[in-house]
Amino acid sequence: MASLDWKNIFLNDLDFTIAVEIGMRTIIMFALVLIFLRSTGKKGVRQLSIFEVAIIIALGSAAGDPMLSGESAIIPSVLVFFVILLVYRIITFFAAKYQKIENILEGVPMYIVEDGKFTMNEEGDANFAQDEFFAEMRVKGIEHVGQVRAALLETNGQVSFLFFDDEEVKPGLPIYPKIYNKKSKVIANAGLYACTHCAEVLHLRSQQACSRCNREEWVAAMDDKRIK
Ligand SMILES: [Zn+2]
Repeated sequence: MASLDWKNIFLNDLDFTIAVEIGMRTIIMFALVLIFLRSTGKKGVRQLSIFEVAIIIALGSAAGDPMLSGESAIIPSVLVFFVILLVYRIITFFAAKYQKIENILEGVPMYIVEDGKFTMNEEGDANFAQDEFFAEMRVKGIEHVGQVRAALLETNGQVSFLFFDDEEVKPGLPIYPKIYNKKSKVIANAGLYACTHCAEVLHLRSQQACSRCNREEWVAAMDDKRIK
């Protein structure tokens, strides 16, 4: 078995001249990437849509080669930049004109909570990864889903919340781990229980499946007002 060539892994044919060349190439490519990103007309980056992530990946791979490889020249990469910029401009032009194209590129906002309950797809599954969304809710100071009139997953990955006024808050599914993790099939005392899967709230006396999603794990519903 051939032994590993550590020198080749870490240095290959690196010497001082090549190191200086890599430095120069990196500075030039970095400057070009900055100029390119400015010329897309975007003001800054908070959250990227999938379309923009695709652009960044294409850009990054075109910029990376001439930084590292002595065999890649800079002008072909600049050509790639221009083509990406052109495609970006054409697509954003049509996306601004036609809603359908924008929906395909950026996706559409998706309801996660409606009227204090999770929305579901046809198979009766909640529309999202619960853990992640619970964390988003806790960051917003939400204690249970009954405080939320609507929550939407926006196309940039952020979640927007609309809240019930205090007098409209309904009993809902608690989302804090210590309470949520007490979920059980056993109904010890009659009362209001929230389905841990879809957040439906029912008055239960004994063990039963959720009338909305058919699962059967419950936790006592909470009806606290929102802490502001
Ligand atoms: Zn349910």
